[in-house]
Amino acid sequence: MDYDPLTRDEWVCRICRRPLDLYQRHDDDGTVVDARWIHPSADRPADHDPDPVPLEASGGEMVGTCDFCSDPGPTWRYPCGDFSVPWYGSVGDWAACDACHDLIERGVWTAVAGRAVAKYPEALRRGARREVEQIHRLFRKHRLGDAVREP
Ligand SMILES: [Zn+2]
Ligand SMILES: [Zn+2]
Repeated sequence: MDYDPLTRDEWVCRICRRPLDLYQRHDDDGTVVDARWIHPSADRPADHDPDPVPLEASGGEMVGTCDFCSDPGPTWRYPCGDFSVPWYGSVGDWAACDACHDLIERGVWTAVAGRAVAKYPEALRRGARREVEQIHRLFRKHRLGDAVREP
């Protein structure tokens, strides 16, 4: 492992420039036995494996995507503390597109989850929905304030 998964740096894929998610597996004691950067599961390109590089060292811009539905060009940012589940770690703030922001502000979380799950292949949607809803619950718990409009 040539990176420290606990660093707060944002990592991107050198090939597609998408932000990457931290995948972690724990053993029964809670020790991390596997940690690597993966493409967000709702937005996983089939043509390559992630080539992780810290955003700062990547020498380029990151393609911004909505952290809820993976649409490009998020326009809002939700301040959020770090949290993790056995298969996923969230570091820092969450970006949101206009559509997700609107649903979040109205509290329509089933629709937010629906937007996220719609990006998954049909066969994975049912399982993905449970995971997405669990992550959204944690997001609500760790959220640190109102959405900030991004330029
Ligand atoms: Zn990529
Ligand atoms: Zn969105």
